[in-house]
Amino acid sequence: MRAVSLNMDANIVVMGTESVGKSALTVRLLTRRFIGEYGDIESIYTHNFMVDGREVTLNIWDSPCSEHLSMEMSLLEKRVHWADGFVLVYSICDRTSFNGVARLIQTIKSIKDYLNSDKVPIVIVGNKRDLRHRRTVLSEEGRLLALSTDCHFYEVSAAENYHSTLMVFHGLVERMRDTKCTPKRPLGFKGIVKSMSAVFTRRLTDSLG
Ligand code: GDP
Ligand code: MG
Repeated sequence: MRAVSLNMDANIVVMGTESVGKSALTVRLLTRRFIGEYGDIESIYTHNFMVDGREVTLNIWDSPCSEHLSMEMSLLEKRVHWADGFVLVYSICDRTSFNGVARLIQTIKSIKDYLNSDKVPIVIVGNKRDLRHRRTVLSEEGRLLALSTDCHFYEVSAAENYHSTLMVFHGLVERMRDTKCTPKRPLGFKGIVKSMSAVFTRRLTDSLG
């Protein structure tokens, strides 16, 4: 995460299986509106807002279906490496999407090597709360998953209101700030190779540009 003094600039990826409301949540945050149909456009949006007197800039990647069984691993890894924080969405009417979120958490943790860290910048979102009559995933199940994986949890309706969507992103910002405060583990060999290659890539792009 890149932090300039009090301000924060972070990359967030919104993930989950198809039709759970990833685009609906993203568009709700950006425009305060629910437009109903979103198509399958993949996009990275930039959004600024103030939290506790600090300016927060979020780069939000609304990715199409990103459940790891149905996509190329390298593509998933690319998203995970890019992101500082994760919004993992399921629909409360779709158990398969809930199971998908549980798997995504494990995948993200293993790719990001968070295994020794108890603070993971992930929020789990159970969307479509307005469709209570079609519910197949209990709130308690979402809460339990969050507890056992040390993530934040929200149940929301992108269709019904803007406020709950805002809470999700604010929650993640808080979470990322906490993560930043935890002392960094000493770099292992892999970490050193990664930092060196990051430096070299930067030099290379600098000299090319
Ligand atoms: P994505 O594939 O995860 O990006 O899902 P979309 O955002 O495109 O939403 C899929 C469908 O679910 C669309 O028809 C949306 O209108 C609908 N949808 C999204 N969020 C909600 C919600 O909170 N409640 C209801 N009832 N429908 C929703
Ligand atoms: Mg979408």
